[in-house]
Amino acid sequence: MEETKKSLNFIEHIVEEDLANDYSKDSLRFRFPPEPNGYLHLGHASSICLNFGLGESYDAPVNLRFDDTNPEKEEKEYVDAIKRDVEWMGYKWDKECYASDYFQELYDWAVMLIKEGKAYVDSQSSEEMADQKGTPTRPGTAGPYRNQSVEENLDLFERMKNGEFEEGKYVLRAKIDMASSNMLMRDPILYRVLHKAHHRTNTDWCIYPMYDWTHGQSDYLEQVSHSLCTLEFLPHRELYDWCLDQLVSKDKLRPKQREFARRNLSHTIVSKRKLLKLVEEGVVNSWDDPRMPTISGLRRRGYTPESIRNFADTVGIAKRENLVDVSLLEFHVREHLNKITPRVMAVLNPLKLVITNYPEGREEWLDAENSPEDESLGSRKVPFSSELYIEQEDFREEANKKFFRLKLGKEVRLKNGYIIKAESCTKDKDGNIIEVQCTYDPKSKSGSGTEESLRKVKGTLHWVSIKHAIEAEVRVYDRLFTDENPDGHNDRDFMEFVNPDSLKVITGYLEPSLKDVKPGERFQFQRLGYFNVDTDTTSEKLVFNRTVTLRDTWAKLQQKN
Ligand code: ATP
Ligand code: MG
Repeated sequence: MEETKKSLNFIEHIVEEDLANDYSKDSLRFRFPPEPNGYLHLGHASSICLNFGLGESYDAPVNLRFDDTNPEKEEKEYVDAIKRDVEWMGYKWDKECYASDYFQELYDWAVMLIKEGKAYVDSQSSEEMADQKGTPTRPGTAGPYRNQSVEENLDLFERMKNGEFEEGKYVLRAKIDMASSNMLMRDPILYRVLHKAHHRTNTDWCIYPMYDWTHGQSDYLEQVSHSLCTLEFLPHRELYDWCLDQLVSKDKLRPKQREFARRNLSHTIVSKRKLLKLVEEGVVNSWDDPRMPTISGLRRRGYTPESIRNFADTVGIAKRENLVDVSLLEFHVREHLNKITPRVMAVLNPLKLVITNYPEGREEWLDAENSPEDESLGSRKVPFSSELYIEQEDFREEANKKFFRLKLGKEVRLKNGYIIKAESCTKDKDGNIIEVQCTYDPKSKSGSGTEESLRKVKGTLHWVSIKHAIEAEVRVYDRLFTDENPDGHNDRDFMEFVNPDSLKVITGYLEPSLKDVKPGERFQFQRLGYFNVDTDTTSEKLVFNRTVTLRDTWAKLQQKN
C-alpha cells in the first residue's frame, strides 16, 4: 500500500495531545456503539471509519458495543446485521460488548447514588416533571420527592426492580441541580420501568437505564479512552462527566467524551427511525433494498467496502454539520470498480441489426480482453453472428456530426469485432425503427493485424449476438429522493420527496459468458455502467443491479436545469 502522510483530523489532534500529556499509548481504546434498533447506514459508516481508523492508526483496540437499553425497539436481527456490516467494511473489533451485560453494575451504582443522597425516586407525571424543569432562562423548581429519605428511595427503587409497579409510575432521577444552565443537569432520569422482554436479558429486568447513565459507565467498564459521538451529545458531556465523577477510581482510566459532526448526505436519509418507516410503508422492499443508504443496501447494490472507506476518508471528520453530495460517494465507487471489474457486453434497449453480407448460420468466437485496466483479469470469447442487438439509441437515420454512433451510410466498429456500415432500416406502422440492415468489412476484424483492422472509425458500439444472448432482469435505480435535503424542510415531511421512479425493471440481453455468474459478482457492462448480480438470482433467473452509471449523468442534468 502506498504510504501517504495525511494531515491529522481534529480528533487525532486531541489524541496526540493526550499522548503528549498523560496518556500512554497502550491506554488508548475506542468503541463503536450502535443501538441495535435498525440497520447501519452511511452515517454510521463515517463513525465506523473514524473509530476503527483510529484503532488502526494507533494500533489500539476498538470495541463493538451494542447500546441495548431499550427493549421496545431493539432486536437480535439488528445485532446480527450490524456485526455483518462492520465485518464487511473490513474491520475487526476487539471485544463484542453489550450495555445489557452491565445492567447489574449499573443497578448497583444507582443504589450507591441513592445511599449518597444523589438520586431519588419520583412518582410525578412526566408533565409535572417537565413543568418543574423550567426553561433555559428560568431555573427549575424542586419537586415534592426531591428530598425523600434515602430509606424510602431505596425501598421504592428495589420495588421498581422487582416489578411491583406499572410503566410510567416511578422513575429514578439523579439529584444534581434544578437551576443548572444546562437543562440536562436538572435532575435527569436514570431509570424507568419497562415491562418488556429484552433480546438478551429476557425478563430478568423490568427497569432499564437511560442513555446518560449507561454510556459513560460502559465506557468506564471497558476502559475506553476516547468516547466519540456526534455533536448533538455536546450538552450531554457535562452529565457524562458527572456520572463518571460518581465512580471513577484514581487507578483507573477516565474516559473522555468528544464530539464530531454528523454525516449528512444529499438525496438521502441517515436516520434508522426514518429508514424503518421506508421499510414499513413499503417504499422500499427491505433494509437491504439496493436503493437504501444502508451498508447492507449498498453492499447488495454492488458497492465495495473500499469505496465507502475512501469516501469517508475524503470527506473526513468535521466540527460542523454540512451536507455532502452523494455523487462524491458515486465517484469513489466508480473509481474502484473501474480497477477491479471485468468488462462485458450487454444490451438493455435492444434494436435488431442484421449484417446482410455475413454468411447466414455462421458464427465466430471473437477474442475479447476483460479489462484494459488489469491484464490479470484475462480474456474471454464472445460469439458473433449475422443477427445482433445494439442499443436503440445507438442508431439514427440521420444525425449531425457530433453523433459518433451508427447512422445511415456511415461506419462504426463493433467492439471486439468488425467495422459495419448502415445501409437501410425497417420501421413499424408507427414509424419506429425495428431493424437496421448493415454490411460488414470482413478484413476489419479487431486484433487481426490487417490494415483494415487498424482503420480508425469514430464510434465503437457494444452489441450481443441474438442467437447466443442470455436474458436477465436488470434493475436500474435512480435516487430515492427527488430533493437534495429531504429531511431538511420544517414544513414538509421527508416522505413527500420520495422519488416514484427510483426503480425501473427491464430485460437485458447479455453475452453468454455471464451464464453462470453468482450473486455479488461485479461487472462493467460496456458503455452502460457497473452492474452486479443480485441475491434474487436463481438457477432459472439472472438478476442484475445497476450499481452506478459510467459517468455522472445526474450532476450534468443538474447543471442544465
Ligand atoms: P439513528 O438516528 O440513525 O438511529 P443514532 O446516532 O441514534 O442514529 P446509534 O446506533 O446510536 O445511531 O449510533 C452509533 C454511532 O454512530 C454513534 O456514535 C453515533 O453518533 C454514530 N452516528 C450515527 N449517525 C451518524 C451520522 N449521520 N454521522 C456520523 N456518525 C453517526
Ligand atoms: Mg440513537
